[in-house]
Formats: sequence, structure tokens, C-alpha cells
Amino acid sequence: MMQEISQDSLAAEGRTGRTRISCPGCGRNDYVAWPAAQPAYHWKCFNCRKEFDLHRGAGH
Ligand SMILES: [Zn+2]
Repeated sequence: MMQEISQDSLAAEGRTGRTRISCPGCGRNDYVAWPAAQPAYHWKCFNCRKEFDLHRGAGH
């Protein structure tokens, strides 16, 4: 039997995994639900309120 999960956000996080990102603007770390199939993630920093397109494989 499948159990219903009342909180959709928890289910989504379970499917995609949580990716740790750091804000290019202020360096703040956060965890986002970044789908594995998605090469870039558009993110708005809750701290400095800037928006960024983050890319996987940071370091190059
Ligand atoms: Zn920031």
C-alpha cells in the first residue's frame, strides 16, 4: 500500500534530492530541489534578493 504524503514539498525533495548551492552574490548557502535532468537552476536569493542562473559542475 502506498502511503499518502500530506506534504507535497517533502515528496518532491525525496524525488529530486536536495542540492546545496551558495549564492554568488552574498555567499549564503541554501538547499534547493534541483531536478537532476536540469542543467541550470534559476534561483532567487532570499538573503540578498538577487537572482541567478546556477549551473552544475561549479568549479569550471
Ligand atoms: Zn545572496
